Amino acid sequence: MLNPFEKVKIPPKTEDLIKIVLNRIPKIGGSTPKEREIKRLDFFKEQLKRYQEFLKEFPRIEELHPFYRETVEIFADINRVKLCLGAMNRGVQLSLNLIERYRRLIKGSDEKEANKLMRQCVGRVNSILRARKDCIDQVIDLASQLKKLQAIDPNMLTIIVAGPPNVGKSTLVGKISSAKPEVASYPFTTKEIHVGHIDTGLYKIQVIDTPGILDRPMKERNKIELKAINAIKNLEGVILFLFDVSNQSLYSAKEQIDLYEEVKSLKKVVIPVLNKIDDKNEELYNQIKSHLSAEGKVFEISAEKGLGLDSLLNYVLNILQNAKVLGK
Ligand code: GDP
Repeated sequence: MLNPFEKVKIPPKTEDLIKIVLNRIPKIGGSTPKEREIKRLDFFKEQLKRYQEFLKEFPRIEELHPFYRETVEIFADINRVKLCLGAMNRGVQLSLNLIERYRRLIKGSDEKEANKLMRQCVGRVNSILRARKDCIDQVIDLASQLKKLQAIDPNMLTIIVAGPPNVGKSTLVGKISSAKPEVASYPFTTKEIHVGHIDTGLYKIQVIDTPGILDRPMKERNKIELKAINAIKNLEGVILFLFDVSNQSLYSAKEQIDLYEEVKSLKKVVIPVLNKIDDKNEELYNQIKSHLSAEGKVFEISAEKGLGLDSLLNYVLNILQNAKVLGK
């Protein structure tokens, strides 16, 4: 299962639901006044069932993969969400019980009383819902935002391509993916994330770039971006950190190295990759290379020209394969 919110059906928000009921009620008839008023209450009940259904489909927060839990946190406070789901549930239960009571009251009442009782009931249910409106609307909004997220599958091994803007991240994602990467919009970033896949025949790996996330110094980040980094950290796999060693590079060696050191502090496997070697700037190249001299493997590629990609990919697939075998 990819996005756990994908299948949730989004119901109307509080005032919209009330409006649907109030607009419809005058149009509902019946062979006797009592029957008519009961049918009207039943219509309200049906609408409330949409909320019940929504609550049933809303994924349990505790059961969410940490990646998605962190993503929920980008939009809302988890404790508040839990509280609101509870409040909505109680509101719906109270409303359904009340409707049941009024149905019985109408059945046992005088024909003349039926309309008054129905109106009383609708008024009381509206008040119950409105008293919880902030909560109800918040969880509905949350679910509809989460539903729109495209699928990063947190259970799939992942190659995360990081590095400053313009170093060639999306070019690399495109070059090593078996099909054209999807363009995904995520709350992490105002930029578009590319999600590609590699099919090894034995298993699938997703490849994502990280514009707006792992591309700037930590001190410049806002709260949402910090949460985004947490979400990304929860994906299982390796980070390829791209350096731009070309004459077109927008960043000095120091800027790139500082960012690399920060990404390394995320405590994931980070593999340094020097990109754009087809247009190598000797000074930049030497500075970065000498900083990396103590590191294990350093790869040199041209994403655009397809140079060095096979050996990089083999190396990465090996690491991922081992992680998979070890069940890490
Ligand atoms: P991103 O912002 O890191 O995703 O970078 P892009 O993939 O959009 O690439 C930025 C620019 O660098 C584009 O104009 C690419 O054509 C160019 N580029 C990417 N890879 C290479 C490469 O290996 N060599 C050269 N010379 N240019 C490249």
